Amino acid sequence: MNLPSPVTAYIGLGSNLQNPAAQLECALQALRKQPGILMVKASSFYRSKAVGPGDQPDYVNAAVQLETTLSPIGLLDALQSIENTQGRVRGEIRWVARTLDLDLLLYGDQTIQHSRLQVPHPRMTERAFVLKPLLELAPTLRLPDGQALKPHLDACAGDDVSLLPNGSTDTWP
Ligand code: ATP
Ligand code: CA
Ligand code: CA
Repeated sequence: MNLPSPVTAYIGLGSNLQNPAAQLECALQALRKQPGILMVKASSFYRSKAVGPGDQPDYVNAAVQLETTLSPIGLLDALQSIENTQGRVRGEIRWVARTLDLDLLLYGDQTIQHSRLQVPHPRMTERAFVLKPLLELAPTLRLPDGQALKPHLDACAGDDVSLLPNGSTDTWP
């Protein structure tokens, strides 16, 4: 029997509620325990200004590189189940504060257009809070069409994204 060969995938993590750094640590643990996922490495944690509606707390963001034998939808299901376990509430309004957001950024060199899943993540190239941790893991990473990601990060130079001091858990609701 042929086992599926593992694919390298990148996930973007974010949280701005209920001790965001601890939420991200918990999500990393959950990813490490997930069947079909081998965690390769995780980035540092970064602090970023929320871009969603209203006056929201800052985010903590990170990225991870993993190897997976899950299908793209299987991986999305796993990510959403981890979000749900950590109390993610889904409502009508987009980009509201959340305990955990796990976005599938890249899945090998595949381009996916599915009702539940678009890969590469359609807004990743505009977001320094995604690109900074991602390029820390893989500085020469490219999109499936061959475009380098670094120039996209350079284009977001004004965005407020800074390394989070180790062990910082204060000032969040
Ligand atoms: P954004 O997608 O702009 O970062 P968001 O993360 O707040 O916004 P969610 O409410 O978490 O958006 O997700 C809405 C839907 O997006 C999910 O139910 C999922 O089916 C879909 N989706 C499409 N592509 C992706 C992807 N690459 N990663 C995660 N979810 C995706
Ligand atoms: Ca997101
Ligand atoms: Ca999401």
